[in-house]
Amino acid sequence: MTGGTGRNRDGLAVLPHYHVIAENHDDELIYSDGFTWPCAQGFAADLIAPPAGAPISEPVKAVWIIQGDPLWCPLAHGDGIPADEQAAPEFLEQAIQQQPYWSV
Ligand SMILES: [Zn+2]
Repeated sequence: MTGGTGRNRDGLAVLPHYHVIAENHDDELIYSDGFTWPCAQGFAADLIAPPAGAPISEPVKAVWIIQGDPLWCPLAHGDGIPADEQAAPEFLEQAIQQQPYWSV
């Protein structure tokens, strides 16, 4: 690995990544990006049942784990592309139409 955040379109092994999306009791969507599958599951588990002493524990009522497209991700990994910022709400809207990973 050479580091950096570039998206290598020629890579033979572009790893899938996962988003963890959660809906809290105020109907707000919280999302995190760029997880491997085990990390996504771990993050989801912490949302569903926050470990004792967790700095942030916000009760959630549903959690989705959504696989991202490695070549196009509107959640943008923090790079602030305007087109991605416009696409993100729609992406989230579609994501939560899917069967949740967990819900109350
Ligand atoms: Zn992503």
